[in-house]
Amino acid sequence: MQDAAATSLPASDSTACPGVVQVAVPVPLYRLFDYLPPPEQLSPGRGSRVLVPFGRRMLVGIVVGQRPPLDDSQLTLKPIEQVLDYELIDNELLGVLEWTTGYYAAPPGELVGHILPRALRKTIAVRAPPPGWFRITEKGKAAELDRAPRQARVQTLLGCRPLQREALLADGASADALRRMLAAGLIEACTRPSAVPQPGPELNRDQRLALARILRARSRFQALVLAGVTGSGKTEVYLQAARHLLRRGRQILILLPEIGLTPQFVRRLESRLGHPAWVYHSGLSDGERLATWQAAQDGTARLLVGTRSAVFLPLRAAGLIVVDEEHDSSFKQFDGMRYHGRDVAVLRASRLGIPIVLGSATPSLESLLNCERQRYQLLELPKRAGTAAQPRWHIHDPCGQPIEDGLTEELRKRIRARLEMGQQVLIYRNRRGFAPVLMCNECGWQADCDHCSAHLTWHRGARRLNCHHCGSWRAAPPRCPECQSPQLEALGAGTERIEAAMEQHFPDYPVLRADRDRIRKREDFEQLLDQVSTGKPCILVGTQMLAKGHHLPGIGLAIILDTDQLLFSADFRAPERLSQAVVQVAGRAGREQPGEFILQSRHPEHPLIQMLANSNYLSSAKLLLEERKMADLPPCWSLAMLRAESRDPAQARDFLASLVPAIDTRRIRIAGPLAAILQRRAGYWRYQLWMMAENRKALSREIQALIKQIEGMPAARQLRWHFDVDPLEL
Ligand code: ADP
Ligand code: ZN
Ligand code: ZN
Repeated sequence: MQDAAATSLPASDSTACPGVVQVAVPVPLYRLFDYLPPPEQLSPGRGSRVLVPFGRRMLVGIVVGQRPPLDDSQLTLKPIEQVLDYELIDNELLGVLEWTTGYYAAPPGELVGHILPRALRKTIAVRAPPPGWFRITEKGKAAELDRAPRQARVQTLLGCRPLQREALLADGASADALRRMLAAGLIEACTRPSAVPQPGPELNRDQRLALARILRARSRFQALVLAGVTGSGKTEVYLQAARHLLRRGRQILILLPEIGLTPQFVRRLESRLGHPAWVYHSGLSDGERLATWQAAQDGTARLLVGTRSAVFLPLRAAGLIVVDEEHDSSFKQFDGMRYHGRDVAVLRASRLGIPIVLGSATPSLESLLNCERQRYQLLELPKRAGTAAQPRWHIHDPCGQPIEDGLTEELRKRIRARLEMGQQVLIYRNRRGFAPVLMCNECGWQADCDHCSAHLTWHRGARRLNCHHCGSWRAAPPRCPECQSPQLEALGAGTERIEAAMEQHFPDYPVLRADRDRIRKREDFEQLLDQVSTGKPCILVGTQMLAKGHHLPGIGLAIILDTDQLLFSADFRAPERLSQAVVQVAGRAGREQPGEFILQSRHPEHPLIQMLANSNYLSSAKLLLEERKMADLPPCWSLAMLRAESRDPAQARDFLASLVPAIDTRRIRIAGPLAAILQRRAGYWRYQLWMMAENRKALSREIQALIKQIEGMPAARQLRWHFDVDPLEL
């Protein structure tokens, strides 16, 4: 951490000096910094992007306010180096970011990194990205280009329609030719062409009702939870709502979980809505992100589709926000400013005065509680659209049967039967790698991570032992490092092992694996979905990647293997997660023909399993919510975590313990310091103080008071600490 560049001082009534500018600077300190206006430019207003000296560096910050001129001690303040953009960020977005940093107890400077795309955070000028689309001009049509074959090629390609830069480059154009032609006025940049929107299916009664409710709220804030069973046609409802609002010239923002943002989905949006979709996610280059950001800001982009971070895109004429798969935990940021994209989206919609739709087959308990408290409105789509029915359920208890590579003989039989009927089979196992544990049969040694309190996962194909928590790895040993025995045994089965077993048992059918080892890019996933959508029989083995709303019409049998771990987890959210996984996986089966779902569990009598088997998700969720209420747990009570991490376990624990006396336990309840479920990660011991209150404001006040206290403590500078408000990770 660095010395403060400037100090805040009390205001005086001197009028001779110019006002002092308050700047959010991207440093991890809980304060704003004061600067003098730049000597040769106008004083920048709120939302301006400025370059400021900070210690020995120059940083890009955002002006959040002005204060009255100070007395002569202001002479120690440094001037702003340069105003890069006057009032770039409007009040609405800046206000949302200020609220977000406050609510999630993050340093105010965090807002800079979320409000600006990376290209605008650099101190050197970033060249505007080359235009994405080109069309030919009249001059270009008439030009004689015989002596410049590359340019002639562009002329031909653009002859009948605008094209994307990538398409031109792939088809014989060169970047140089494009540049020259642009400069000569032979071609010009254009936005992506709109197409005629394709009509969708006629909505059924439930869908029409949901659509009417959304549109009734079209010019005011209303959060609507669209709880539709898998395949009920939720997406069709968003699409119709979006279409109405696009026609009124409004912008639509659609937020999706990481893995949901496939090119396939983007194409569906574009063809149905007739507008180009501007995407925003971490896989884009800085220039691409900048292009979308600017198009969102100037209103060129009508249809915006992105992951969590897109919630902070500037919007000029917002009309509707959609959060698809709103229960998905990838909406929560796990480092830096630990915000929840869904919850920020709701706040944003309320500030913008527009409706927001939170869609899911398995809504979070948070959203359901908000419906119960009548803050949000619940819209149900209880039946599958069209003719498809929900699959038949079986609970399979492997007790007494040998399990080979994760599956029993009985399961293999059922898989074979489905394949022979020409159907596809999905096997869900939320564990990557070959085996979660590698153990020595002679001495009991187990391969553990040196840096985490966790086993290493054996990845047989890569011949490695990988830690899934810190990313470290080592070569898989041929024999036990303790006793030299060659009798190493792989315990349990991850996706890699199940894939291998399936290939061995069913050599005549393709086996496709979907997990982070196999699917590294969105394109990989797209390819896999394309292959599955041919409808030919195959076996699909994968992690939660497969349980996320994708439409896989050919699946006749879906199997979920690892439920038992979640039945006995220390995490109070485990039953909710299990219910969601089960319902989502079951929902993959039988989209177009009668399907079957098998849940493998050694505890078929467990009340949660029974509940899921015998009732629908919403009634199960209601019971889970009752349990949370009785235990004063979120979402009924508010929870925040103060975490400390250190290489020395005592230091982290003692630091938290030393804060306990300062907390007003009449207003909030605390527990701990307690070890995190993963007690050690990447060499750091992790402890946390649970802070809980029925009243969210009381909790917020207590957090703010604690921040002040911690910032004054020398001990705080010797370890890592942070707050996690509404934590999802325990
Ligand atoms: P969800 O988002 O709820 O999973 P989708 O909107 O993707 O569901 O719809 C699932 C399938 O059902 C899609 O193939 C879609 O075209 C079809 N569908 C949706 N609504 C209807 C309808 N009213 N009539 C016929 N088919 C529909
Ligand atoms: Zn051994
Ligand atoms: Zn590790």
